Amino acid sequence: MKKKVRFVVETTESISIRRQWRKVLADCTYCDALTTFETPEGISSRTGLAEREIFRLLESDAVSFMEVDRVLVCSACLENLKKELFHRSPKRTIILQPLEPE
Ligand SMILES: [Zn+2]
Repeated sequence: MKKKVRFVVETTESISIRRQWRKVLADCTYCDALTTFETPEGISSRTGLAEREIFRLLESDAVSFMEVDRVLVCSACLENLKKELFHRSPKRTIILQPLEPE
């Protein structure tokens, strides 16, 4: 007597993608120093700050930026802004930290 055996195989796959976002060293007139300008996407992926929030800061002239083939934002301006906001209201939580340790 033949016995028919049926197997169900389930597989899972996880893909990890690391992307190098564009960074440029340039003089920032707001910081009055040589700083790193990054894409909003890069800053967002590194810090967890929403791209929309970065563009809002950019449009309100709170941070320095340059337009080459893409928009690049001064990351030092964002850090200074974070420090300034934290100093003003230390009880407020500002998320500007990496999502994962690099
Ligand atoms: Zn700056």
